[in-house]
Amino acid sequence: MIKKQIILFGAPGAGKGTQAKILASKLNVPHISTGDILREAVSKGTELGEKAKTIMEAGELVPDEIMGGIIKEVLMSEKCKEGYILDGFPRTTKQAELLDQILSHIDLDYPVVIELNVEDEIIVHRLSMRRMCSNCGYIVNLESLENQDVCPNCGAKNSFIKRKDDDEAVIRNRLKVYHESTKPVLKYYEGKTEIIIVDGTQSVEQVSELIISKLS
Ligand SMILES: [Zn+2]
Repeated sequence: MIKKQIILFGAPGAGKGTQAKILASKLNVPHISTGDILREAVSKGTELGEKAKTIMEAGELVPDEIMGGIIKEVLMSEKCKEGYILDGFPRTTKQAELLDQILSHIDLDYPVVIELNVEDEIIVHRLSMRRMCSNCGYIVNLESLENQDVCPNCGAKNSFIKRKDDDEAVIRNRLKVYHESTKPVLKYYEGKTEIIIVDGTQSVEQVSELIISKLS
């Protein structure tokens, strides 16, 4: 039996979103990205979205209780019965405690924790090479492009721009926040569940194969 209840950890730029999508498709379980859920709620203008929007526009973090409410609703839904991949939650020890409370009320298996391990310097380098097509929104890494002037998705020429949040100072700050808030979360899970640390510097395919083999 392969374990299908997963919390995926990784610094911004470690390839977490990419791996979460691949895993979700290989294991046939939902990819639960709190970032995606919030963005969708905001764009649909739901009650949650309105609340989250006001908070985010003030430059503040969405409170743990709101995030916990979102996660609870998703985990209670039918689609998570066979498994789930949590991406972006829990991000703090408080959220990890909330998740335990939620799981104690639902008949779901306790998750394993996977950490994609990539050194900060490699992440800074990776993200400094990241560009977005201003025409279609496609994200590329300049180093992996044969032709750096043409968007491989829409064919636009010289359309690549660097996003503000890929600026080095911003990246370093996000990494600092990640180390400060996430290390305690990993500590929280020590002794509670299996923590699988995967070298995230290999190719996307190698990393996903490694994760699958360690889940079996
Ligand atoms: Zn494009």
